[in-house]
Amino acid sequence: MSKKPKRIIEHALLEGIGPISAERLLALPENEWGLLRSAITDARRARPPAHVARCLMCSGPVFIQARAFRGFRLPYFAHFKGGDATCPWHTGETLHPDDARALQYGGAQESAAHRMLCEQIAELAAADGRCVSAEVSKYLPPTDNARGRYPDVLIVRRDTPKIAVEIQLSNTFQTEVSARCLHYEREGVGLLWVLYGLDLQADDLPQSFRDVVLRHRGNAFLLDDEAVTASHARRTLVLKCYLRGPDGRFETGRLVSLDDLTFSSKGPPYLEDRVTPGLLARGEAARETWRMALRGRSPDFSYADLRSPAFLTANEQLCGLVPGLRQWQAETFQGQWMFANLIAVVFSALSHANGTFRNYASRQDNVQALLNSKLPSENLQPFALIMQEILQRCGADDLLLGSVGTHLDRALALGDGNFVLYYEAPWSAIAVLLPELFDPLLRFELETLDALPAWARPKIAATAKSAVPPVHPAHQPQSLAENHGFAHHPG
Ligand SMILES: [Zn+2]
Repeated sequence: MSKKPKRIIEHALLEGIGPISAERLLALPENEWGLLRSAITDARRARPPAHVARCLMCSGPVFIQARAFRGFRLPYFAHFKGGDATCPWHTGETLHPDDARALQYGGAQESAAHRMLCEQIAELAAADGRCVSAEVSKYLPPTDNARGRYPDVLIVRRDTPKIAVEIQLSNTFQTEVSARCLHYEREGVGLLWVLYGLDLQADDLPQSFRDVVLRHRGNAFLLDDEAVTASHARRTLVLKCYLRGPDGRFETGRLVSLDDLTFSSKGPPYLEDRVTPGLLARGEAARETWRMALRGRSPDFSYADLRSPAFLTANEQLCGLVPGLRQWQAETFQGQWMFANLIAVVFSALSHANGTFRNYASRQDNVQALLNSKLPSENLQPFALIMQEILQRCGADDLLLGSVGTHLDRALALGDGNFVLYYEAPWSAIAVLLPELFDPLLRFELETLDALPAWARPKIAATAKSAVPPVHPAHQPQSLAENHGFAHHPG
């Protein structure tokens, strides 16, 4: 232990998300901090450059650095080069990408193997009858910005968007990966990274490969002997695709052609999206028992249903996740029952926001009739703030413009003391059940994948998002803000 312990950036402020501690960053799954890492790099490469993350001490821009530790990769915030050296959390100079590149390449830009691989991919792609051209390092003139690029291989096929193939070497930098991703996305050109010179089963897979695999949503593409043979046999470019499992290991490779891939509006293509389902799983798991209970309600929606074993199970599970909910229910007259009734109404409203209305609370056949009848009742009025917040954040925010909004305004006019306030347990419980609405970090991650569920996309509030004022600190315990994402709420 001769080395002095390194200082670390203890908190960073993420734009639109709020403060994130070094501890919370370390606790995030690799996919989640990886998405943040890419988004921060992309923002810095964007024109004009944006700062997604800042040091909370000196407010200098920071990025996420990955360090290997006993077979794990751990994420840390680090200042960009040229940051404020007097910052108490300063971590020392980070190598500028250009200097680092010069060191790694030793002056030589491209290896012979790289060039041969490019030519082989172009040749295999050109054998396809639909291929118009497949060229190596052909200059691609830009459509809407000044500088073009030389993709390693540019494949033009009839009736499909162009595809740029880039060879990812172990020493390709995150900044270069980022710049190419941004460029081709702007140009509407599909970007496929083919990894070269790596062992996917190795524990110490370089971070640059991990970044690219994550951008391909957990898919790694390689050209090996088997893929070359299949390409010749099928007369089209066939690659070997390795999907990354939930445990981080790669599954057995599969042979795929370009037609097998999904080219999405955000980010590089994939055979199977191995990232989004994992992000959505938390909310789905938290809601599952409630969903089962709601689906089992009696045809007349008797209030007795809300005390059935299925509801008790769901409530038990939620109380286990949200310390304080059990106590709140015990201290509130008919608290447990009222909370179950709230869930029935909320889940109905969200099914409407999802375009598949299902009424879990009454026999009415539309969401307006349901809310107009329930909101004025004394069972739901205490949750007026919660209902308003949910409706504002979900895809049914247009309901607030009509009679539903009027009912809520009337309830809110009763003033503090008449409804559950932000620091009370039901808020935390709702945040646990609906992280897609209330966890700004998760929302950000899903947005970068264009994967926010329809019900979590506000219709009218989308443009006014940045105008939302921060909540008053007195209403907003720090732990709640950090754990459940109540970083902002409309005043
Ligand atoms: Zn700093």
